[in-house]
Amino acid sequence: MTERRRVLIIYTGGTIGMMADPRSGALRPMDLEHLEEHVPELERIAVQLDAVSFEQPIDSSDMKPADWIRIAQLIREHYVDHDGFVVLHGSDTMAYTASALSFLLEGLTKPVILTGSQLPIGTIRTDGKENLLTAIEIAAAAENGKPTVPEVAVYFEYSLYRGNRTVKVHAERFEAFRSPNWPVLAEAGVRIRYDQQAILPARSGPLKVHDHMDANVGVIRLFPGISAIWVEQALSTPGLRAVVLTTFGSGNGPTNPEFLNALSRAINAGIVVVNVTQCVGGRVEQGRYNTSKDFSEMGVVSAHDMTVEATITKLMFLLGQGLSGAEVKDRFGVELCGEVSVL
Ligand code: ASP
Repeated sequence: MTERRRVLIIYTGGTIGMMADPRSGALRPMDLEHLEEHVPELERIAVQLDAVSFEQPIDSSDMKPADWIRIAQLIREHYVDHDGFVVLHGSDTMAYTASALSFLLEGLTKPVILTGSQLPIGTIRTDGKENLLTAIEIAAAAENGKPTVPEVAVYFEYSLYRGNRTVKVHAERFEAFRSPNWPVLAEAGVRIRYDQQAILPARSGPLKVHDHMDANVGVIRLFPGISAIWVEQALSTPGLRAVVLTTFGSGNGPTNPEFLNALSRAINAGIVVVNVTQCVGGRVEQGRYNTSKDFSEMGVVSAHDMTVEATITKLMFLLGQGLSGAEVKDRFGVELCGEVSVL
């Protein structure tokens, strides 16, 4: 008889495990035991399951870099004894956590599958049961003893996505996620069909868990009419080390000199400025239009086809390594774990 594979469930909170507060009616997280009561199928699954929980399960809107590091540390503590990990997490910031974990877990060779739901698992029409049971199956999947998905991924509503390519695109639909710049890693129908071309090739390990992130990062979303004074104020925030500039189309922005001067001054003062498109899909190509030529000349870094979530967390990760602004600029474009395709 072959040994059952062993999967650890890490419960952080989110709608999947919430129930209505008897007094206010607002949804709040319940504990892991209650969650298991609602999914008796867990007893019958052909995988050996263990579970750990955040002491205080949270709505994912309350997630912080310290919580990402806590999840990474839990994975480190249980890495040798488990074949895969399922992280139960709220959908709101799941794409950020998945991106952050992909950077924090260097040399990962086992599946880390994040999932959650749009409706609590205790409700009749919940999407949480299927998400949980299939995520466990994916975390346990192996061929010739080797994990089928040796990377951080998000499973939601029959699709498996690369974690650091994922964005939440809908507040209500069960199909809440997409990875516009990367193919789905697997589709779950009658069978789970994996796309081996899309899945990261297995790395050789060993696992190195990083435990620093520097959150002195800001986001400036451009819009027509944005005030240069406001941009200048934002760029003068004490302690600021990097800014994500979300731009139009293929990385374009206004050409008004006050705005460009404010950016240029910040870059000269050592702040790393990264250009990400506001478009859901496609990439930044600085210099394609006149309206992005100045960005290249003043030293704005292109995020190519990265998501905003991956860009923010990669900056926090690189800054957390104690690198200087110049080093972060150099390293930013280097692919770490499938988060970017540099043409
Ligand atoms: N607000 C919830 C959360 O992100 C929504 C969800 O779980 O889907 O924790």
